Amino acid sequence: MSNNKDFDLFRTSDDHEELRAAVRAVAQDKIAPHAAEADELAAFPKASYDALVASDFHAPHIGEAYGGVGADALATCIVIEEVARVCAASSLIPAVNKLGTMPLILAASDEIKAKYLPPVARGEAMFAYGLSEREAGSDTASMKCRARADGDGWVLNGQKSWITNAGVSSFYTVLAVTDPEGKRGSNVSAFVVEKSDPGFTFGDLERKMGIKGSPTRELIFEGCRVPGDRMVGAPGEGLKIALATLDHTRVTIGAQAVGIAQGALDFALGYVKERSQFGKHIAQFQGIQFMLADMAMKLEAARQLVYVAAAKSERGDKDLSFFGAAAKCFASDVAMAVTTDAVQLLGGAGYVKDYPVERMMRDAKITQIYEGTNQIQRIVMARQLLKA
Ligand SMILES: Cc1cc2nc3c(=O)[nH]c(=O)nc-3n(C[C@H](O)[C@H](O)[C@H](O)COP(=O)(O)OP(=O)(O)OC[C@H]3O[C@@H](n4cnc5c(N)ncnc54)[C@H](O)[C@@H]3O)c2cc1C
Repeated sequence: MSNNKDFDLFRTSDDHEELRAAVRAVAQDKIAPHAAEADELAAFPKASYDALVASDFHAPHIGEAYGGVGADALATCIVIEEVARVCAASSLIPAVNKLGTMPLILAASDEIKAKYLPPVARGEAMFAYGLSEREAGSDTASMKCRARADGDGWVLNGQKSWITNAGVSSFYTVLAVTDPEGKRGSNVSAFVVEKSDPGFTFGDLERKMGIKGSPTRELIFEGCRVPGDRMVGAPGEGLKIALATLDHTRVTIGAQAVGIAQGALDFALGYVKERSQFGKHIAQFQGIQFMLADMAMKLEAARQLVYVAAAKSERGDKDLSFFGAAAKCFASDVAMAVTTDAVQLLGGAGYVKDYPVERMMRDAKITQIYEGTNQIQRIVMARQLLKA
């Protein structure tokens, strides 16, 4: 074996692994006990939120300058992964706090950052992200939500659809067309909207297949006036900021997918060592062993890709778009495959709610859809490949 120290560089640091152990303990003790109930009742897991806030894992990416703990992109992924391992819905608390605030971190004025990031870091407020519309999902540039200049402020009219943590969040980054006659894609601006702003209401809770503990609702703007100093970045830069945000946060969805898959694999490993058929534990059948090996192999490949993408997010590498899309796309496909196989390994027990793998299989599906479907991720990857 070589003593070359460079080999040491290609692994997570001791700090990252200590963080993993700390998050795993909180997840196991304080979040896992509420996961099935949050799913069953489709109720936001307030106890899990409180546990995340108490341990500073609710918005770990926020920098120390704003009262946060300043976790790097890989550390943030590890937090999300470990929470998702027991409860995917709860992992959307740190994930969407990052999604909602990333436009501010990338492009907002110092005043906006100083006003809105500290309450999120303190756990007093959550931050959501409103880009998609009912008729403008993959084709974000065709959005209709409008912000009209009015004196020294803006008046918003329109809606945003399927917004994660809507209603439970105090603050929202909202993308709206500010120049209807302007060039497609360059006519959109980003705003911070507060839950208490007059003219801002929510649609009913969506009834979903999975991540049921994470509320998903429409944002509805009817003559909603926001002050001029709430614009994030310059007029017309909104979509650029929104897409740059996704380059970073798709990595966190990859981490969520890895966590869901790990939770399912861990549960299945325990089960096959206990369950007996034909006079032996089913773990002794080679057909089962090959399934387990494939699940673990795919999962580890996904994890490595997510961690490399996280390092690129932290450094702001030029090829982040490719890696963010690749990590999210690959890891979410792996999560779907691994959770489906976990259900298979439990047989009939896998299909009923007495065990967590059926929830994990339902939860995994969304990772192939949100923050851009996996078809869109392939478009993003191909665009970067062909540009070179
Ligand atoms: C639970 C949940 C939470 C969400 N949270 C948020 C949130 O917090 N904030 C937010 O802004 N949005 C959120 N979304 C919206 C999500 O990002 C969109 O649903 C997603 O981007 C897809 O858009 P769409 O649903 O309109 O699908 P469509 O764009 O209508 O796509 C339908 C199908 O066509 C395919 N397709 C579309 N265009 C192409 C193409 N050019 N080439 C090949 N295939 C294509 C898609 O891949 C898909 O398979 C959430 C959605 C859900 C379900």
